[in-house]
Amino acid sequence: MNQHLRYQPPADALRGRVIAITGAGEGIGRALALAAAGHGAEVVLIGRTVSKLEAVHGRIAALGQAEASIAPLDLERALARDYDALAEAIQGRYGRLDGLVHNAGILGALAPIEHYDVPTWCRVLHVNLTAAFALTQVLLPALRAAPEASIIFTSSGVGRLPKAYWGAYSISKAGVEALCGTLAQELGDGPIRVNALNPGPVRTRMRAQAYPAEDPAGLARPEDVLPPYLWLLSAASRGVNGQSLDCQPG
Ligand code: NDP
Repeated sequence: MNQHLRYQPPADALRGRVIAITGAGEGIGRALALAAAGHGAEVVLIGRTVSKLEAVHGRIAALGQAEASIAPLDLERALARDYDALAEAIQGRYGRLDGLVHNAGILGALAPIEHYDVPTWCRVLHVNLTAAFALTQVLLPALRAAPEASIIFTSSGVGRLPKAYWGAYSISKAGVEALCGTLAQELGDGPIRVNALNPGPVRTRMRAQAYPAEDPAGLARPEDVLPPYLWLLSAASRGVNGQSLDCQPG
Protein backbone atom coordinates (compact mmCIF):
# COMPACT_ATOMS: atom_id res chain seq x y z
CA MET A 1 0.00 0.00 0.00
CA ASN A 2 1.19 3.51 -0.87
CA GLN A 3 4.44 2.20 -2.26
CA HIS A 4 3.89 4.65 -5.13
CA LEU A 5 4.14 7.54 -2.63
CA ARG A 6 7.30 6.23 -0.99
CA TYR A 7 9.08 5.28 -4.22
CA GLN A 8 12.70 6.42 -4.35
CA PRO A 9 13.78 5.78 -7.92
CA PRO A 10 17.32 4.56 -8.51
CA ALA A 11 19.33 6.81 -10.83
CA ASP A 12 18.80 4.43 -13.77
CA ALA A 13 15.10 3.67 -13.09
CA LEU A 14 14.07 4.72 -16.60
CA ARG A 15 17.26 4.00 -18.52
CA GLY A 16 16.55 2.86 -22.08
CA ARG A 17 12.88 3.84 -21.91
CA VAL A 18 11.26 6.20 -24.39
CA ILE A 19 8.62 8.26 -22.60
CA ALA A 20 6.23 10.76 -24.18
CA ILE A 21 4.73 13.48 -21.98
CA THR A 22 2.03 15.94 -23.05
CA GLY A 23 2.14 19.46 -21.68
CA ALA A 24 5.85 19.02 -21.07
CA GLY A 25 6.68 22.74 -21.25
CA GLU A 26 5.30 23.87 -17.92
CA GLY A 27 4.08 22.81 -14.50
CA ILE A 28 3.94 19.14 -13.58
CA GLY A 29 4.71 18.02 -17.14
CA ARG A 30 7.92 20.05 -17.23
CA ALA A 31 9.05 18.74 -13.85
CA LEU A 32 8.28 15.18 -14.91
CA ALA A 33 10.16 15.55 -18.20
CA LEU A 34 13.26 16.76 -16.36
CA ALA A 35 12.99 14.01 -13.73
CA ALA A 36 12.41 11.27 -16.31
CA ALA A 37 15.45 12.41 -18.30
CA GLY A 38 17.37 12.59 -15.04
CA HIS A 39 16.57 8.92 -14.47
CA GLY A 40 17.77 7.86 -17.89
CA ALA A 41 14.70 8.15 -20.15
CA GLU A 42 14.66 9.47 -23.69
CA VAL A 43 11.82 11.93 -23.36
CA VAL A 44 9.44 13.03 -26.13
CA LEU A 45 8.31 16.53 -25.18
CA ILE A 46 4.79 17.03 -26.53
CA GLY A 47 3.15 20.42 -26.19
CA ARG A 48 1.69 23.55 -27.67
CA THR A 49 4.25 26.29 -26.96
CA VAL A 50 7.46 25.36 -28.76
CA SER A 51 9.62 27.91 -26.93
CA LYS A 52 8.79 26.23 -23.59
CA LEU A 53 9.57 22.78 -25.01
CA GLU A 54 12.87 24.11 -26.36
CA ALA A 55 13.77 25.44 -22.92
CA VAL A 56 13.14 22.01 -21.36
CA HIS A 57 15.07 20.33 -24.18
CA GLY A 58 17.98 22.72 -23.60
CA ARG A 59 18.02 22.04 -19.88
CA ILE A 60 18.14 18.27 -20.47
CA ALA A 61 20.96 18.70 -23.02
CA ALA A 62 22.91 20.99 -20.69
CA LEU A 63 22.80 18.33 -17.98
CA GLY A 64 24.21 15.78 -20.45
CA GLN A 65 21.21 13.48 -20.19
CA ALA A 66 19.79 11.24 -22.93
CA GLU A 67 18.68 13.45 -25.80
CA ALA A 68 15.04 14.51 -25.74
CA SER A 69 12.91 15.26 -28.78
CA ILE A 70 10.33 17.98 -29.31
CA ALA A 71 6.91 17.18 -30.74
CA PRO A 72 4.75 20.29 -31.19
CA LEU A 73 1.07 19.37 -30.94
CA ASP A 74 -1.79 21.70 -30.05
CA LEU A 75 -4.35 19.31 -28.59
CA GLU A 76 -7.13 21.80 -29.20
CA ARG A 77 -6.50 22.12 -32.93
CA ALA A 78 -4.66 18.96 -33.97
CA LEU A 79 -6.20 17.00 -36.85
CA ALA A 80 -5.92 13.29 -37.62
CA ARG A 81 -2.90 13.92 -39.85
CA ASP A 82 -1.08 15.67 -36.98
CA TYR A 83 -1.60 12.67 -34.70
CA ASP A 84 -0.50 10.32 -37.48
CA ALA A 85 2.63 12.40 -38.10
CA LEU A 86 3.56 12.23 -34.42
CA ALA A 87 3.05 8.46 -34.29
CA GLU A 88 5.15 8.01 -37.44
CA ALA A 89 7.90 10.24 -36.04
CA ILE A 90 8.05 8.20 -32.81
CA GLN A 91 8.04 4.89 -34.69
CA GLY A 92 10.68 6.19 -37.09
CA ARG A 93 13.05 7.55 -34.46
CA TYR A 94 12.61 5.01 -31.66
CA GLY A 95 10.64 2.05 -33.06
CA ARG A 96 8.62 1.86 -29.85
CA LEU A 97 7.21 3.81 -26.92
CA ASP A 98 7.69 2.62 -23.32
CA GLY A 99 5.63 5.27 -21.57
CA LEU A 100 2.88 7.76 -22.38
CA VAL A 101 1.85 10.40 -19.84
CA HIS A 102 -1.33 12.35 -20.55
CA ASN A 103 -0.58 15.45 -18.52
CA ALA A 104 -1.70 18.45 -20.61
CA GLY A 105 -4.93 20.00 -19.47
CA ILE A 106 -6.94 23.18 -19.21
CA LEU A 107 -9.23 24.41 -16.46
CA GLY A 108 -11.82 26.25 -18.54
CA ALA A 109 -14.26 28.24 -16.44
CA LEU A 110 -15.45 27.85 -12.87
CA ALA A 111 -19.18 28.45 -13.32
CA PRO A 112 -22.54 26.82 -12.62
CA ILE A 113 -23.79 24.36 -15.22
CA GLU A 114 -26.77 26.68 -15.75
CA HIS A 115 -24.52 29.40 -17.12
CA TYR A 116 -21.55 27.38 -18.40
CA ASP A 117 -20.28 28.71 -21.74
CA VAL A 118 -20.85 26.02 -24.36
CA PRO A 119 -17.73 26.69 -26.51
CA THR A 120 -15.58 26.57 -23.34
CA TRP A 121 -17.25 23.26 -22.42
CA CYS A 122 -16.34 21.83 -25.84
CA ARG A 123 -12.72 23.04 -25.58
CA VAL A 124 -12.20 21.56 -22.13
CA LEU A 125 -13.76 18.21 -23.02
CA HIS A 126 -11.69 18.10 -26.18
CA VAL A 127 -8.27 18.96 -24.72
CA ASN A 128 -8.64 17.02 -21.45
CA LEU A 129 -10.48 13.93 -22.67
CA THR A 130 -10.95 13.50 -26.42
CA ALA A 131 -7.35 14.40 -27.29
CA ALA A 132 -6.06 11.89 -24.72
CA PHE A 133 -8.24 9.22 -26.31
CA ALA A 134 -7.05 10.08 -29.83
CA LEU A 135 -3.39 10.21 -28.82
CA THR A 136 -3.62 6.89 -27.00
CA GLN A 137 -5.26 5.24 -29.99
CA VAL A 138 -2.69 6.45 -32.50
CA LEU A 139 0.25 5.56 -30.23
CA LEU A 140 -0.92 2.05 -29.29
CA PRO A 141 1.11 0.37 -32.05
CA ALA A 142 4.29 2.03 -30.73
CA LEU A 143 3.36 1.09 -27.14
CA ARG A 144 2.74 -2.50 -28.27
CA ALA A 145 6.20 -2.57 -29.84
CA ALA A 146 7.80 -2.04 -26.40
CA PRO A 147 8.58 -5.06 -24.20
CA GLU A 148 6.36 -3.48 -21.55
CA ALA A 149 4.70 -0.07 -21.53
CA SER A 150 2.92 2.24 -19.11
CA ILE A 151 0.12 4.70 -19.87
CA ILE A 152 -0.66 7.33 -17.23
CA PHE A 153 -3.78 9.48 -17.33
CA THR A 154 -3.97 12.61 -15.18
CA SER A 155 -7.09 12.84 -13.10
CA SER A 156 -8.21 15.19 -10.35
CA GLY A 157 -10.08 15.07 -7.07
CA VAL A 158 -13.07 16.65 -8.83
CA GLY A 159 -12.95 13.88 -11.43
CA ARG A 160 -13.59 11.31 -8.72
CA LEU A 161 -16.15 13.31 -6.73
CA PRO A 162 -18.22 15.94 -8.56
CA LYS A 163 -17.91 19.46 -7.18
CA ALA A 164 -20.25 22.38 -7.82
CA TYR A 165 -18.97 25.01 -10.26
CA TRP A 166 -16.09 22.89 -11.58
CA GLY A 167 -18.18 22.26 -14.72
CA ALA A 168 -16.47 20.83 -17.78
CA TYR A 169 -13.14 20.31 -15.97
CA SER A 170 -14.69 17.99 -13.37
CA ILE A 171 -16.67 16.14 -16.00
CA SER A 172 -13.67 15.81 -18.33
CA LYS A 173 -11.64 14.27 -15.50
CA ALA A 174 -14.48 11.87 -14.64
CA GLY A 175 -14.33 10.88 -18.31
CA VAL A 176 -10.57 10.43 -18.03
CA GLU A 177 -11.11 8.04 -15.11
CA ALA A 178 -13.61 6.06 -17.18
CA LEU A 179 -11.31 6.05 -20.22
CA CYS A 180 -8.46 4.80 -18.05
CA GLY A 181 -10.57 2.03 -16.50
CA THR A 182 -12.03 0.96 -19.84
CA LEU A 183 -8.64 0.77 -21.54
CA ALA A 184 -7.10 -1.02 -18.55
CA GLN A 185 -9.77 -3.73 -18.81
CA GLU A 186 -9.39 -4.03 -22.57
CA LEU A 187 -5.62 -4.43 -22.37
CA GLY A 188 -6.08 -6.84 -19.48
CA ASP A 189 -2.99 -8.58 -18.21
CA GLY A 190 -0.95 -7.78 -21.30
CA PRO A 191 2.35 -5.88 -21.40
CA ILE A 192 0.70 -2.43 -21.35
CA ARG A 193 -0.47 -1.15 -17.96
CA VAL A 194 -2.89 1.75 -17.71
CA ASN A 195 -3.38 3.84 -14.58
CA ALA A 196 -4.57 7.26 -13.43
CA LEU A 197 -2.90 9.71 -11.06
CA ASN A 198 -4.44 12.58 -9.16
CA PRO A 199 -1.61 15.06 -8.44
CA GLY A 200 -3.55 16.81 -5.65
CA PRO A 201 -3.02 20.55 -5.08
CA VAL A 202 0.22 21.61 -6.81
CA ARG A 203 1.81 25.05 -7.17
CA THR A 204 1.26 25.67 -10.89
CA ARG A 205 -0.39 28.14 -13.24
CA MET A 206 -3.57 26.04 -13.34
CA ARG A 207 -3.88 25.95 -9.55
CA ALA A 208 -3.38 29.73 -9.38
CA GLN A 209 -6.09 30.16 -12.00
CA ALA A 210 -8.52 28.06 -9.94
CA TYR A 211 -7.58 29.61 -6.57
CA PRO A 212 -6.28 33.15 -7.30
CA ALA A 213 -6.43 34.27 -3.64
CA GLU A 214 -4.52 31.27 -2.28
CA ASP A 215 -0.98 31.60 -0.92
CA PRO A 216 0.97 29.16 -3.11
CA ALA A 217 3.74 28.83 -0.53
CA GLY A 218 1.84 26.08 1.31
CA LEU A 219 1.33 23.94 -1.79
CA ALA A 220 3.42 21.06 -3.06
CA ARG A 221 5.81 21.99 -5.85
CA PRO A 222 5.59 20.06 -9.14
CA GLU A 223 8.78 18.15 -8.30
CA ASP A 224 7.26 17.04 -4.98
CA VAL A 225 4.51 14.93 -6.61
CA LEU A 226 6.67 12.97 -9.05
CA PRO A 227 7.44 9.67 -7.22
CA PRO A 228 4.12 8.02 -8.25
CA TYR A 229 4.72 9.00 -11.90
CA LEU A 230 8.24 7.59 -11.85
CA TRP A 231 6.99 4.46 -10.09
CA LEU A 232 4.30 3.83 -12.70
CA LEU A 233 6.78 4.46 -15.54
CA SER A 234 9.44 2.15 -14.09
CA ALA A 235 9.65 -1.62 -13.81
CA ALA A 236 8.81 -1.27 -10.09
CA SER A 237 5.08 -1.07 -10.98
CA ARG A 238 5.05 -4.03 -13.36
CA GLY A 239 1.63 -5.73 -13.16
CA VAL A 240 -0.15 -2.68 -11.70
CA ASN A 241 -3.14 -2.00 -13.95
CA GLY A 242 -6.42 -0.09 -13.74
CA GLN A 243 -5.53 1.79 -10.55
CA SER A 244 -6.57 5.35 -9.67
CA LEU A 245 -3.89 6.64 -7.31
CA ASP A 246 -3.13 9.87 -5.48
CA CYS A 247 0.22 11.66 -5.62
CA GLN A 248 -0.12 13.16 -2.16
CA PRO A 249 -1.14 11.49 1.08
CA GLY A 250 -4.80 12.19 1.93
P1 NDP B 1 -0.23 23.96 -16.07
O1 NDP B 1 -1.29 24.93 -16.43
O2 NDP B 1 0.95 24.42 -15.29
O3 NDP B 1 0.32 23.23 -17.38
C1 NDP B 1 -0.57 22.68 -18.31
C2 NDP B 1 0.20 22.18 -19.48
O4 NDP B 1 -0.76 21.71 -20.45
C3 NDP B 1 1.04 23.25 -20.15
O5 NDP B 1 2.28 22.72 -20.55
C4 NDP B 1 0.20 23.62 -21.35
O6 NDP B 1 0.92 24.08 -22.46
C5 NDP B 1 -0.42 22.27 -21.70
N1 NDP B 1 -1.57 22.47 -22.58
C6 NDP B 1 -2.68 23.20 -22.33
N2 NDP B 1 -3.46 23.23 -23.43
C7 NDP B 1 -2.81 22.52 -24.38
C8 NDP B 1 -3.08 22.22 -25.74
N3 NDP B 1 -4.18 22.68 -26.37
N4 NDP B 1 -2.21 21.47 -26.44
C9 NDP B 1 -1.08 21.01 -25.83
N5 NDP B 1 -0.75 21.29 -24.57
C10 NDP B 1 -1.61 22.03 -23.85
O7 NDP B 1 -1.01 22.78 -15.31
P2 NDP B 1 -0.54 21.71 -14.21
O8 NDP B 1 0.87 21.37 -14.39
O9 NDP B 1 -1.06 22.16 -12.92
O10 NDP B 1 -1.49 20.48 -14.65
C11 NDP B 1 -1.00 19.28 -15.22
C12 NDP B 1 -2.11 18.25 -15.12
O11 NDP B 1 -2.40 18.01 -13.74
C13 NDP B 1 -3.41 18.68 -15.76
O12 NDP B 1 -4.00 17.58 -16.42
C14 NDP B 1 -4.27 19.10 -14.57
O13 NDP B 1 -5.65 18.95 -14.83
C15 NDP B 1 -3.79 18.13 -13.52
N6 NDP B 1 -4.02 18.54 -12.15
C16 NDP B 1 -3.35 19.62 -11.61
C17 NDP B 1 -3.57 20.00 -10.30
C18 NDP B 1 -2.88 21.17 -9.67
O14 NDP B 1 -3.17 21.49 -8.50
N7 NDP B 1 -1.95 21.83 -10.35
C19 NDP B 1 -4.53 19.27 -9.43
C20 NDP B 1 -5.17 18.14 -10.09
C21 NDP B 1 -4.90 17.81 -11.40
P3 NDP B 1 1.23 25.65 -22.66
O15 NDP B 1 2.40 25.91 -21.76
O16 NDP B 1 1.52 25.78 -24.10
O17 NDP B 1 0.00 26.40 -22.23
